[in-house]
Amino acid sequence: MNVSFSPEHQAFRDEVRRFLDRALDSELREAQARCPGIFLDYDFNIRWHRILHKQGWVAPAWPRQYGGTGWDLTQRYLWTRETTLAGAPSLAPMGLGMCGPMLIGCGSQGQKDYYLPRILSGEDYWCQGYSEPASGSDLASLKLQARQEGEHLVLNGSKIWTTHAHVANRMFCLVRSDDTGKPQQGITFLLLDMASPGISVEPIVFASGTHEVNQVFFDDVRVPVTNVVGELNQGWQVAKYLLEFERGGGGTAAQQSALDRVRKLAAGVTTDSGTLLEDPDYKSRLDRTEIELQAVQYTELRIMAALSKGQNPGPESSIMKNLGANLSQRITELALEAVGDYITPDQPWQPGNNAQPLGPAGGSTALPRYFNLRASSIAGGSNEVQKNIVAKLVLGL
Ligand SMILES: Cc1cc2nc3c(=O)[nH]c(=O)nc-3n(C[C@H](O)[C@H](O)[C@H](O)COP(=O)(O)OP(=O)(O)OC[C@H]3O[C@@H](n4cnc5c(N)ncnc54)[C@H](O)[C@@H]3O)c2cc1C
Repeated sequence: MNVSFSPEHQAFRDEVRRFLDRALDSELREAQARCPGIFLDYDFNIRWHRILHKQGWVAPAWPRQYGGTGWDLTQRYLWTRETTLAGAPSLAPMGLGMCGPMLIGCGSQGQKDYYLPRILSGEDYWCQGYSEPASGSDLASLKLQARQEGEHLVLNGSKIWTTHAHVANRMFCLVRSDDTGKPQQGITFLLLDMASPGISVEPIVFASGTHEVNQVFFDDVRVPVTNVVGELNQGWQVAKYLLEFERGGGGTAAQQSALDRVRKLAAGVTTDSGTLLEDPDYKSRLDRTEIELQAVQYTELRIMAALSKGQNPGPESSIMKNLGANLSQRITELALEAVGDYITPDQPWQPGNNAQPLGPAGGSTALPRYFNLRASSIAGGSNEVQKNIVAKLVLGL
């Protein structure tokens, strides 16, 4: 497989590197380096978002006519890889990666005109209201009730595990507007304002102590029917369309960065016979992980090559989601093992905290990351559910 990039793409990569050198300040780099989980805090997220918006590079995957960059697939791949390896903040995907593409594909002209510029500028920050206390993998069983009263839908019920609902001013969600047919029928896709009367957000704090997700309660919340995307009771098609974006794109650069950090950590830990990096058992597990990561990276490149020839990604996104989640978790286990004794005391991992961490530099996030990355094989469709998709669509079982 030839993985060299054309001179034009190499020039593009150099331009991206120069931009990152200029635009990424130490505070943003530190915030990302100390990020304990999957999502970076809103304040840093939105600061980087606005810098990219000013540059015109905030939505590389959107068509140019809606504010995208017009980059080809290789440029987008290089952009993701270079920003991640440079330690740039990762942007929240709910607006740019999910709601925006969904509106471009399924929204009315009025919805596109109103919401897309606000997603690009960062004025609107979205959360995703799909899961409910008794509906996760089996999403079509959702029950949040939407009763039509004239020009409004009146919502009662609850959404759960809603990432960043405590900072979002908008939610896209699925509601039950008819419960007489099959579970997939009678679901409506809705956009709503989080400041609507009757919405309350309760935090769910992870075992690590970080706050990313929430439970959201709806008590007679009135939403105009003009906020329905597509047709009333036909939201399942829209939801499925959006999930393709949620599960697409492997992004092995994040795992590469995390593994590089583990190598540095291990090099700073002394053992009886040198550093942990020289310990044969630890080193062999680190190397095995690196080899698996490279294999996934080649798969990612193969998918990109197929996409650039106009082929459909298909169930490969489920394979990538699964492999990526497993690798991310394995890397947090190696980090935790490297930091070892120093993880028990409370460590100052928050950005801006100037207390000196115990143990090797960069090790203070090992414990919260270990806990928080357990979620990567659940969020966005669990590993088992992805395997079911592969069994059905690839193996024909
Ligand atoms: C950190 C985090 C962030 C999240 N953010 C959001 C968000 O922003 N918005 C949102 O709507 N949701 C969010 N979720 C919810 C997420 O989508 C669900 O947790 C996920 O879909 C699984 O659903 P569940 O938790 O109800 O588990 P369940 O569906 O109850 O699954 C429990 C277990 O059973 C297994 N299982 C279920 N069905 C099958 C099957 N058919 N075959 C084999 N095994 C099966 C699952 O793999 C899992 O191990 C988030 C979750 C996490 C952990």
